[in-house]
Amino acid sequence: ATAESPGTSEGENFKVCIRVRPPLPRELDGRIAFSECVFVESDRSVTISDGSMPLNALDGTGVPPSPSTLEAMMHAESYGNHRFTFDAVYGPESHQEDVYESCAKPAVTSTLAGYNATMIAYGQTGTGKTFTMQGAPRGEMRGIIPRAIEDVFYTIESGGDTKGRFLVRAAYLQIYNEVIYDLLKPERTNLAIREDRRRGVFVEGLSEWVVRSPEAVRLLMDRGAQQRATGATRMNELSSRSHAVFVVVVENARGGQISQQAHGGTNAEDGVSVRVGKLNLVDLAGSERLSLSGAAGQRLEETKRINASLSALGNVISALTDPRGRPHVPYRDSKLTRLLTDSLGGNCKTTMICHVSPALEAFSEGLSTLKFASRAK
Ligand code: ADP
Ligand code: MG
Repeated sequence: ATAESPGTSEGENFKVCIRVRPPLPRELDGRIAFSECVFVESDRSVTISDGSMPLNALDGTGVPPSPSTLEAMMHAESYGNHRFTFDAVYGPESHQEDVYESCAKPAVTSTLAGYNATMIAYGQTGTGKTFTMQGAPRGEMRGIIPRAIEDVFYTIESGGDTKGRFLVRAAYLQIYNEVIYDLLKPERTNLAIREDRRRGVFVEGLSEWVVRSPEAVRLLMDRGAQQRATGATRMNELSSRSHAVFVVVVENARGGQISQQAHGGTNAEDGVSVRVGKLNLVDLAGSERLSLSGAAGQRLEETKRINASLSALGNVISALTDPRGRPHVPYRDSKLTRLLTDSLGGNCKTTMICHVSPALEAFSEGLSTLKFASRAK
């Protein structure tokens, strides 16, 4: 038994959470009885177990089996029980609303105050990334994106802590095979990332849509999701192999006419101050270890690129959370990290929600997700 990685993330601004989805009806109806492997112990800790030793073996009260069995030798590293601690752990019973309120709302609030923020959903295909980020468009099952948008408009309209005029814009893009596609203007493909002092990091030619109500954003989201499913590039087969990024830009002008200004900063012009915050909502490609064996040609290239871009993200995050300060942060190693250069670390609230399946058959993917998440703290 191993108790891994005590403690939690250093900064207030960087959070790593875990969400365990409930067993699905098809898993419960299977011919083989459903076995769980993930046990939520508290709202901050979780244990994953391959079932080879009693769960309480962690406390030293269980009797560890002989390690000489063939099975144990085959996965010596992952054998047994592994306990991890995170900023938050959401169990199978958690509600979309709880996840939003405790995990996403601070990022939304900071965007309204003119900061950039990023929410990232990580995990194997089928573990609930899209459920968390998008969920149902209406009702209790609404995910983070619709709730964030509603919150933005609600805060602006209720005028609480906010002053001045607001302009909200949305964009939706997909990164597949290190190529950027505009999901809202499908004819725009192979877009380039640029950076300048006025706009910060931006995708050249990406369509940005001014939105005046949550309903308008919902229509854009549906359009993008549909494009993702039926696009000319056969994205339906590829949605688990591509990253989707929904971007909400909130501009707040005080004291004069609103103008198109820099992202993530304050700009004073003719007595007008414009604060711009950008919220990036990222639904990553599935993190399952894609085997290089058997894949050839295009498939092999694609596989290598997904593996590479997820490890690039992991490397950027570990550089940013390195307790010894900040070594070189390798933003330029992938399109995704490049795109998020001005939205990760520093003053930017960054939350990664790592998703795991409760099913024993997903044990080794689950363990590797928890290890990735743990490295990111
Ligand atoms: P991913 O995007 O990671 O591939 P999905 O979000 O598509 O996974 O989820 C896979 C299936 O599990 C979907 O049918 C989804 O509705 C369901 N699901 C995922 N998470 C939950 C949850 N927390 N509660 C209920 N159903 C869930
Ligand atoms: Mg998905």
